Amino acid sequence: MHVKVLGCSAGISEGLRTTSFKLGDHALLDCGTGVGDLSLPELLAIDTVFLTHSHLDHSGFLPFLADAHASHGGPGITVHALPYVTALLRQRLFDGPLWPDYTRQPEPDHPYIRFQALDFATAIPCGDGTVRALPAQHSVPAVGFLLEGPKAALAFSGDSGPCPAFWAAAAASPKLAHVIVENTFRNQQQTAAERSGHMIANWLPPLAAGIDRPYELWISHLEPGHEAALMAEVQALPLATPARPLQRGMMFVL
Ligand SMILES: [Zn+2]
Ligand SMILES: [Zn+2]
Repeated sequence: MHVKVLGCSAGISEGLRTTSFKLGDHALLDCGTGVGDLSLPELLAIDTVFLTHSHLDHSGFLPFLADAHASHGGPGITVHALPYVTALLRQRLFDGPLWPDYTRQPEPDHPYIRFQALDFATAIPCGDGTVRALPAQHSVPAVGFLLEGPKAALAFSGDSGPCPAFWAAAAASPKLAHVIVENTFRNQQQTAAERSGHMIANWLPPLAAGIDRPYELWISHLEPGHEAALMAEVQALPLATPARPLQRGMMFVL
């Protein structure tokens, strides 16, 4: 399984894209603004999307992806998401006035967007690997994901404050090689982080210590304009594994 980072920022600005990873040629993990850099043939090859949660920096380009399929005869997209998320997207996004209801068009039995309910027990086949939802602790119902390929596994926190269950599940993967964890706020913003379900650096060491073997640690979802300060706080921590910033364009082979 090849995982390409299309976007991993907490917001937009020149050169920054919000969260989206491309899994092989046919699947996306989250649908942030990074999806807008794909060519039309690449967009039409996507038939599966895994969503961590409903927030627009992770789901906002799904309507445009569906529109590309509708306009160019694409096969449509199966969207794996929590039932809370699918209900919200149906009611608030694909509602008709805001955007065409591609959950019912062109025909209710064969729509462009087909939702599948995520659970934590099922490893969903994806290319030559699998994708499985992991626990997360955010301001709205959310998941992380474990991506397992033939050679290695990658755990992604999605948007989440401190979530010991995520780290325990990641540690339980025998092939774990990479962990991508968000760090949205600086330590001085602890109250905002608690309120919004995001991480600060000071919360990371006891969680990261739960994995007692070598792995690579990557930091995502940095707030635009504060990337250097946020990474300085992470890199000052007593971590057994040095943390590096995730960058748009990076590729992981699992
Ligand atoms: Zn969020
Ligand atoms: Zn986010």
